[in-house]
Amino acid sequence: RHADLALYAAKSAGKRRWRHYHDSLTSGMMQRREVQAALEDAVKNDGFALVYQPIVALDSGEIVGFEALLRWPRPGHRTVLPGEFIPIAEETGLIVPIGEWVLKQALSDMVRWRRGLPPAAPAAPDKAGEWGDGPHISVNVSARQFFDPGFVAGVRRTLRRSGLPPSALLLEITESLLLGENERIRTDLAELKDIGVRLAIDDFGTGYSSLAYLLDLPIDVLKIDKTFVTGIGSQWRRHALVEGIIKLSQPLQVDIIAEGIETETERELLAAMGCQFGQGYLLSVPVDAAAAEAMLVRGRLV
Ligand code: C2E
Ligand code: CA
Ligand code: CA
Ligand code: CA
Repeated sequence: RHADLALYAAKSAGKRRWRHYHDSLTSGMMQRREVQAALEDAVKNDGFALVYQPIVALDSGEIVGFEALLRWPRPGHRTVLPGEFIPIAEETGLIVPIGEWVLKQALSDMVRWRRGLPPAAPAAPDKAGEWGDGPHISVNVSARQFFDPGFVAGVRRTLRRSGLPPSALLLEITESLLLGENERIRTDLAELKDIGVRLAIDDFGTGYSSLAYLLDLPIDVLKIDKTFVTGIGSQWRRHALVEGIIKLSQPLQVDIIAEGIETETERELLAAMGCQFGQGYLLSVPVDAAAAEAMLVRGRLV
């Protein structure tokens, strides 16, 4: 449960140690093809794990959902973070079976959690299929997964088997996916939308021409990247930019989740700007499934 914090601390406090560790995975001790073989092995032998970071309503503190984040616990080593192996998984195509596992696991955890909750209050008519009808689960999707022609059918099938309402799933996609602007991705997104799945643009603002996507893609949620959130209390330009994104999204009926909230000042400023939802170490680090369930039962973080 504290692995993320420990790693974060190690990352910021001991860059050299981190770097040494990083080197041992991607070069030096471990060759790329060894990483690939180890990843293949993990795919076959259920060798991955998910941790969950709560997404919280900034005004009430209520937990509205969780983001599933992938971990690779290697026996005898420190748990590997996705930043280190996802690029290799994408290049080798292994992200496709890994992504299928993530979706299946995240949905089945959410099904189990929901069973332990009192029935959700019926959603207001204007909120049907949106926040309010039970906690949602966010799952990250790589561009490479969309290139797999079976992707949308796979999502549909996994959702149906889980029995969850499709609106309980929020797929997080990055702007790099949209950058290609190819017609297939457009139809895939429209199809997911038809199923009732909700779509988020992840790391909003770090890519290109983000604003154009808001015009003609079926986007439900923007996740404002941490790089914009950090420093809103001390830098007026950041403050103005984030406030602008929030104000812009309001009439478009796009929800905002601010990422990487680490200080009380950031939380307060975001709430005052009208940002409804947030996640970050201030609220909670990613936790294992049992801790996530306990949070949901309480309905709040502590
Ligand atoms: P992301 O989607 O932007 O996820 C947020 C990342 O920020 C997570 O890192 C999370 O642990 C970290 N984080 C959360 N709050 C804070 C905070 O307050 N401060 C700081 N400094 N960091 C915070 P993580 O788990 O290492 O994941 C990194 C990236 O790997 C994710 O970025 C996402 O792009 C990718 N990823 C994670 N899981 C999956 C997955 O299942 N599939 C795919 N395709 N990509 C994944
Ligand atoms: Ca994400
Ligand atoms: Ca993000
Ligand atoms: Ca980010």
